[in-house]
Amino acid sequence: MVETSITEVLKDMAFRSGADFVGIVDPSCFENSEYTGNKPQDVMTDLQSVIILGVSIPRGAFDTLPRGRAEYTNTLMAGTATLRIIAFQIARFIEKKGYKATIAPSEGSEFGYWYADRKTLKADFSFKYAAYHAGLGNFGMNHLLITKDFGPKVRMTAILTDAPLDGDKNTQLPFINDACSACMKCIKICPAGAITAEGVIHREKCAEYMFNVLGGLRCGLCIKVCPLDRF
Ligand code: SF4
Ligand code: SF4
Repeated sequence: MVETSITEVLKDMAFRSGADFVGIVDPSCFENSEYTGNKPQDVMTDLQSVIILGVSIPRGAFDTLPRGRAEYTNTLMAGTATLRIIAFQIARFIEKKGYKATIAPSEGSEFGYWYADRKTLKADFSFKYAAYHAGLGNFGMNHLLITKDFGPKVRMTAILTDAPLDGDKNTQLPFINDACSACMKCIKICPAGAITAEGVIHREKCAEYMFNVLGGLRCGLCIKVCPLDRF
């Protein structure tokens, strides 16, 4: 039975706490043959719903790149911290309703610890794929989620729960954003050559650049140049 009232309350709670977007998806989308990543069902075997929460990142953090890499990285982490607080409130609300909930990490690595696999750089599951199926956006050539209002200038986190929430649907967005074919700016600017015109991303090159060349600071140039936001 669909728990619509819980869904409505937790979405309202997310927006009132500062989220800019929220979507809920049935985890069966991770069974699609096109999806090759890890599955959240391996983390929570009785998973019923994946909740995606996102915040936009202030424009100044991008405008000041590349000199402002420290500020950019710190601003991203502030977004992560904000999402953690929002997600924690929602997870506790879900548990008060008699279900269980756990919060997936927003970062691949943090505090010297790697949440993602060190070799493949794959996390426990793709937030972006879940967000696409919840109708929150589609993919850019930079392999990031392109949201309608904020383009790729967002941060996301996810909550896994056994609560059977009322899921959102993809609103017929194409998998790759239509604007990419006439743009390709992210490919041209990438200092690591990590993004190709064929649609492949070499995550290891991106990670090598950020961790070994930038000393752990984030790069963000492929997000900075993306014109797909409404600002
Ligand atoms: S963050 Fe930087 S290195 Fe990584 S893909 Fe984007 S532009 Fe390339
Ligand atoms: S910079 Fe251009 S090609 Fe890259 S994701 Fe944005 S719109 Fe697509």
